[in-house]
Amino acid sequence: MPVTTTSANSCPPDCSLKRNGCYAESGPLALHWRVVSEGGRGGSFDELLQDIATLRRHALWRHNQAGDLTPFSPGVIDGRLLAKLVQANKGRRGFTYTHYAPTAANGAAIRRANELGFTVNLSAETLAQADAHAELRIAPVVVILPGGTTKPMRTPGGRHVVVCPASLSNTDCLNCGICQQRDRVAIMGFPAHGSGARHVQGVFFAGQVS
Ligand code: SF4
Repeated sequence: MPVTTTSANSCPPDCSLKRNGCYAESGPLALHWRVVSEGGRGGSFDELLQDIATLRRHALWRHNQAGDLTPFSPGVIDGRLLAKLVQANKGRRGFTYTHYAPTAANGAAIRRANELGFTVNLSAETLAQADAHAELRIAPVVVILPGGTTKPMRTPGGRHVVVCPASLSNTDCLNCGICQQRDRVAIMGFPAHGSGARHVQGVFFAGQVS
């Protein structure tokens, strides 16, 4: 499945996982991400648009195995760039996740992307935040979970949280694709894993307390 990586300057500065357990900051992906972020690998945004537009119709592809929606726009999604991406995705099944806060402006850009067929999941750090994101009704929602979580659960608001099947078996996004489904009701949960799991759990449990 085609997957993109965007330079680290695309991440919102207030992401709680930055240098605090972000899975992309360790292992082989971290090495690749660093080279991309330093300009040693990859292409321009226009080249990305061309690559997306040449994917076969209905192709499932994932934007940003590392990185977030728009470079050089700390805290504010560049709606113009996102609109170009959405346009290039027409007829394909692109999906991604964002840690940008769903402010009025960001939320409008995210809602528009989803309405036009490019799935942008809102990433939550706690179950309560997952409820808050879902209340906005602008995008599907995902949430981090404590490491080792295997069973579905409910948010404080009663929403169903389903554990990502790739963390439970050897399926993958190409065979699952749930994160691309914009109209799904379930919140997808990602158990903390890897070398940063302890930090990720810390973010999750700190939020539960607050
Ligand atoms: S829920 Fe499915 S599509 Fe989403 S990350 Fe897990 S395997 Fe991939």
